[in-house]
Amino acid sequence: MDTTVWQTTDPTRPPAAPLTTALAARARDLTKVYGHGASAVHALAGVDVDFAQGAFTAIMGPSGSGKSTLMHLLAGLDSASSGRAFLGETDITALGDDALTRLRRDRVGFVFQSFNLLPMFTAEQNITLPLELAGAPVDRPWFDTLVQTLGLGARLTHRPSELSGGQQQRVAIARALIAKPEVVFADEPTGNLDSRSGAEVLSFLRRSVRELGRTIIMVTHDPTAAAYADRVVLLADGKIAGDIADPTPESVLAGLDALRQLDEQPPVTGTTPVVGA
Ligand code: ADP
Repeated sequence: MDTTVWQTTDPTRPPAAPLTTALAARARDLTKVYGHGASAVHALAGVDVDFAQGAFTAIMGPSGSGKSTLMHLLAGLDSASSGRAFLGETDITALGDDALTRLRRDRVGFVFQSFNLLPMFTAEQNITLPLELAGAPVDRPWFDTLVQTLGLGARLTHRPSELSGGQQQRVAIARALIAKPEVVFADEPTGNLDSRSGAEVLSFLRRSVRELGRTIIMVTHDPTAAAYADRVVLLADGKIAGDIADPTPESVLAGLDALRQLDEQPPVTGTTPVVGA
């Protein structure tokens, strides 16, 4: 039985990432199994998904559905059991440890729930750290654009302990964007923020895509956060279970509810559930 929940405002609408769109990342029959034998957990059970360049995509799904695992495999932070994960045209599942380390340093940016700033460094030093580590010069106009967009101009000499949570996360976003990586992966970026700071951070992430042309893939369990994205990919039981274009909090909640109902109901053969907005 096909239990995929496809939800778009128009059923004839083309897929969110048509073949003519350049892809920032993609997974092909990607699997990840933790453990062996009877205790094996199929965290990813054959995932096929495309992520367009210049788009803000949220990955959502119930706890344990494989969101973090998918992100880690796409970002080269963990290895696949089988299948392939591509960053641009690079098959990262074929890379050795050294090449993966370089890929993470040069082509990918990260934003974590816990900010992960260095406490002894100022905001400016934290932002430019990736360039420092790569031995690359700071692109001053780009630095200024980020600082201005993120509203950090008056905070550059402050250390993380002198900044609010929202300001710290904005520094972390600037750090993730400073080297103009092909993709920024954001893992529950608003998980430690109050709703107002969270909304600010999500607005900045969206602006960095719409106005600065960046590509963001964000894992979240929050439908309101996901609604800032251009598209929501739904995961359930390690598989792609839905794809929502132009999400709203309501359409994301409806998609999650539909997943829950599929989980609770016995399989019905011969039907493909379709969920309207
Ligand atoms: P999500 O991010 O959607 O909550 P995860 O990707 O973290 O889901 O986990 C998917 C499944 O894989 C879960 O059943 C989880 O318990 C399992 N899992 C994740 N990481 C490990 C690990 N290191 N060892 C064993 N099982 C793991």
